Amino acid sequence: MTATTTAVSDATGMESVDSFRLRAREWIPANLRRLADLPADEGAQRNVSSDESAWQRARALQRTLYEGGFAGICYPKEYGGLGLTSAHQRAFNEEVAGHEMPMRLNVPTFTICGPTILDMGSEEHKREHLAAAIRGDEVLVQFLSEPGSGSDLAGATTRAERDGDVFVLNGSKIWSSGAYAADYALCLARTDWDAPKHRGLTMFLMKVHQPGVHIERIKQVNGGDEFCQEFFDDVVVPASAVVGEVGGGWAVASRQLFHERNAVGGGSPYFSGARAEGRRGTETDALIDLVRRTGRADDPYARELIAEAHALGVIHGHLVDRVTAGMRTQKMPPTAGSLIRLFHGESATRQAEIALELAGPAAAMSAPDGPDTREVGVSFLFRQATQLGGGSTEMARNIISERILGMAREYAADRDVPFNQVRHGR
Ligand SMILES: Cc1cc2nc3c(=O)[nH]c(=O)nc-3n(C[C@H](O)[C@H](O)[C@H](O)COP(=O)(O)OP(=O)(O)OC[C@H]3O[C@@H](n4cnc5c(N)ncnc54)[C@H](O)[C@@H]3O)c2cc1C
Repeated sequence: MTATTTAVSDATGMESVDSFRLRAREWIPANLRRLADLPADEGAQRNVSSDESAWQRARALQRTLYEGGFAGICYPKEYGGLGLTSAHQRAFNEEVAGHEMPMRLNVPTFTICGPTILDMGSEEHKREHLAAAIRGDEVLVQFLSEPGSGSDLAGATTRAERDGDVFVLNGSKIWSSGAYAADYALCLARTDWDAPKHRGLTMFLMKVHQPGVHIERIKQVNGGDEFCQEFFDDVVVPASAVVGEVGGGWAVASRQLFHERNAVGGGSPYFSGARAEGRRGTETDALIDLVRRTGRADDPYARELIAEAHALGVIHGHLVDRVTAGMRTQKMPPTAGSLIRLFHGESATRQAEIALELAGPAAAMSAPDGPDTREVGVSFLFRQATQLGGGSTEMARNIISERILGMAREYAADRDVPFNQVRHGR
């Protein structure tokens, strides 16, 4: 169903934020289910379920948003988006809080891969893949990390060799979240072994499911199996799949990491759904609910912990506002996204510790007649993921010291050395 409220535009022809908000307010309850009404076993919204049906549900929801005129809010119109501003997106995110959204499509499809294609892709990549993702027809994934290079991304050894109009890929990628359910991947591979490591790389926008690609899912400590490892065995990729220049893959990867830091830190304008704005209140609400369920609502120490968690959320929100404004106005360098990425990793870990302390033993096991708070224990087990995914917090510290504070660069034995002469530890 489309909204019946008429759009009101300003002098430039762009719909005003207030008008957009009012149309969203009318459309959302008529088209999206309230989270409170979802059956208890439906994990799609909470982003935890790793079965195919959760992905199918996310694609269907994305199509609903698209048909209703609320998809790709900040993406340009020529590539299937609405061409509106981050203020429109913020208004939508506020209105949609408490409703089912295709949250799993935010990272990496809309907040990382999409913006990278927008910045660095060919006209054909943008028209084909951005529009398909916004319609809910395409899910994108990142093939960056390798078994031997995660933090040292430029040390990738997946090989891409040119053969006429195609490249042939061999090697392996790992930790690719949701690859089994994705359609296309941004894949970093080495095309020149004589060049120093940053200069011999090329980025490809490749089909995930094709001959020669073998995907294995990795079981995680929290029970999920979203992570995948891919093995490439003579995978043929057309030359038109190259994003940017052959040998210019590091420039594309750097842009991708920029968007990733913003996405992980909570500062991406392409994030659609309540999490980005909800941070300031929803986590505190969840903790209050937790102490009510465990009967500790009047415990002064529990209240102190909740106040700490709330303060972290408030500071995070202000930091995101400050840093995104700083980068937009160029008062801060693009690497400033590392500040919010670092804070997010630290505060999310602390929030998980606080929740564990509040739940007490019930986080590990619950009595048959007591409250079920085992999800707190499961989140605690996975807390370190927030310190690693999107580049580790240690690497964020390195970037802050070297690129923002101007401190001395870390020693690198492989700098400016042809990659085939770099010694690799075995
Ligand atoms: C939730 C989650 C989702 C992810 N999704 C994807 C994905 O979709 N696609 C993808 O390609 N990858 C993904 N990753 C992988 C992620 O990018 C890597 O885990 C991360 O870059 C770290 O690489 P690594 O695991 O190889 O650790 P390593 O690079 O081996 O690092 C191990 C430890 O050493 C530290 N370290 C390494 N080098 C330095 C240094 N120079 N200075 C200081 N400390 C250092 C690191 O901080 C880390 O603590 C995901 C990871 C997580 C947790």
